[in-house]
Amino acid sequence: MKQIILKPGKEESILRHHPWVFSGAISSLPEDLQEGEMVEVISSRRKKLATGHYQIGSIAVRILEFGETSIPENFYSERLFSAYQLRKTLNLIRKDNNCYRLIHGEGDFLPGLVVDIYGDTAVLQAHSPGMHFDRFKIADALVNLPQAHIRNVYYKSDTTLPFKANLGAINDYIIGKYDGCLAIENGLSFNIDWLKGQKTGFFIDQRENRMLLEKFSYGRNVLNMFCYTGGFSVYAMRGGAAKVISVDSSSKAIELTEANVNLNFPSDNRHTAVAEDAFKFLDGIKKDEYDLIILDPPAFAKHRSALKNGLIGYRKLNLKAFEKIRKGGVIFTFSCSQVVTKEMFRLAVFTAASQSGRKVRILHQLTQPADHPVDISHPEGEYLKGLVLYVE
Ligand code: SAH
Repeated sequence: MKQIILKPGKEESILRHHPWVFSGAISSLPEDLQEGEMVEVISSRRKKLATGHYQIGSIAVRILEFGETSIPENFYSERLFSAYQLRKTLNLIRKDNNCYRLIHGEGDFLPGLVVDIYGDTAVLQAHSPGMHFDRFKIADALVNLPQAHIRNVYYKSDTTLPFKANLGAINDYIIGKYDGCLAIENGLSFNIDWLKGQKTGFFIDQRENRMLLEKFSYGRNVLNMFCYTGGFSVYAMRGGAAKVISVDSSSKAIELTEANVNLNFPSDNRHTAVAEDAFKFLDGIKKDEYDLIILDPPAFAKHRSALKNGLIGYRKLNLKAFEKIRKGGVIFTFSCSQVVTKEMFRLAVFTAASQSGRKVRILHQLTQPADHPVDISHPEGEYLKGLVLYVE
């Protein structure tokens, strides 16, 4: 196997099992090394430290195996099996819950790979060329995963692979075909459209937070901003909300939300969905109309360069909610931007609270659920941050 040699002293983070090798740490690499190829990572003292996928860019190697061990033939089967066992331990695979994240990249020791399960379909996303080239092996391991009953594997990586790698990835079934999908989450049903939808079709990462919201919903007037598939709305309805308004700028999202609400609560007139820009909508509502508001926007800062504007965005959005919410109201506010830390997000929300003049207390501090685990050596894996706030 080809080898990458590190500069002196650059082995430290690998010895601590951080799964990335940055290009700046590399002293030499073979001229004919191809993007996506498996490589050995060697210290300046010529000791083998790890094996991983090579990629052009600032993260040059994503490590799959640490130490001298080479990658075994059944590598993917083993990692998938161990990830599956964890989801079973978490009691996520039940009659009333058939969707969960099976592989969360580094958090499941498979950097560059995401796999979400919806019933008997796995939606596979490669974030690295190495995982793209291994997609058939992975798909094979998925359908052969004992007890998991996976029959279809849909590959969806056209937007997640590095654009410059020019891999010509096409979204398509690697194994099986579309046979309709009704995902069941905590007993609620959702139509999942992984062909056209965002990410793998559903935001599985809000599952636990939606459950918490349900408990706050009884008798409340709920405003679900950035509703996408209407996840929070459906839980609020089950929780006994007096009325639920779902808002998203995309009319496709509004259609999805209406379909999902109808699926669970046919001809229930408590729900209304509105296709409008969130900021405009919040400007247009009366003060005190709502006493439970969800703010779950898309990542306002996708890259470090967008951080400053992203934080301004979070502050402005939260300020609008603080200004409008009824006394005794509750806000569920989130950020899924990886580059925005917990502290930064909190500061943006605190600033908004103080600008609004409202008295605000934190009731809960939220994050991503256990099927999106964070490898302790890779704190970058923590991305979802949320606060539940009581506003007086
Ligand atoms: N809360 C959702 C996930 C939100 S994803 C869930 O639990 O599944 C973010 C959503 O914000 C997308 O559906 C996108 O269409 C919508 N969006 C993006 N910009 C927006 C804007 N300015 N106003 C309203 N919605 C917006």
